[in-house]
Amino acid sequence: MPSSGSAAANKVPHAATAPLSAAGTAAGRTSGAAKRGTTAIDLRIYRAVINAVMSHRLPPGTHLGEADFCELYQVSRTTVRKALQRLAHEHIIELRPNRGAVVASPTPEQARDIFAARRAIEREIVPLVIRHATPASIGQIRAALAAEDQARHSGDRAAWIRLGGEFHLLLAELAGNQVLQRYMAELVSRCSLIIALYEPPGASMCENAEHEDLATLIEQGNVAAANHLIEHHLLEIEARLHLGPQEKKIRLADALAGC
Ligand SMILES: [Zn+2]
Repeated sequence: MPSSGSAAANKVPHAATAPLSAAGTAAGRTSGAAKRGTTAIDLRIYRAVINAVMSHRLPPGTHLGEADFCELYQVSRTTVRKALQRLAHEHIIELRPNRGAVVASPTPEQARDIFAARRAIEREIVPLVIRHATPASIGQIRAALAAEDQARHSGDRAAWIRLGGEFHLLLAELAGNQVLQRYMAELVSRCSLIIALYEPPGASMCENAEHEDLATLIEQGNVAAANHLIEHHLLEIEARLHLGPQEKKIRLADALAGC
């Protein structure tokens, strides 16, 4: 992906400030106990990078310097490496010999596989959310929708994108299956990377109206319609991305026509 890589690399100076602000947010949410000790700091670094990726503030291909993290968080390289290794394990970053850590750039093939896995998992999650629904869980879903709506109306695109992903993560949490929840956390972060890499300009990640409709179907306990909608929703997101190898073949054929 050399062209996308270099395009993303151009944004590095701008994006490099992201971990600072994201870290501030993450720190605010960290419990008092968690603030103590290096274990908590590597978790903060991990969360800050995830937040920045989900907000599209760290585009694919961005170099993440170990020394920068050491300075920002006043920690040793060992602590930084622990966070980076966890991010690499979840395929959010790649650790390259001699180049250090770089935000991952999934190929179109990997992107399709990730979306297919996400559809399979979300089809399992939605019926579980319905089965375990309580007035409290419906209230949480409605609150998440309100936050998304507010971000959209205020024009805070980064927050809107992040909240769109978090809506899906909330459903995974409410499904009550920690294994599915863990897979979803990785898949949503990887989908954010894919969208940052392949979305056409001006595209949005999630349609708020579809989230609203999904919430209503969950509230009504309509498993079949809710599952149909989540599948459609994820296929729509994937369809908006420029992933198609066919597209490239057509362009190649056009380019070679008459030669
Ligand atoms: Zn969505």
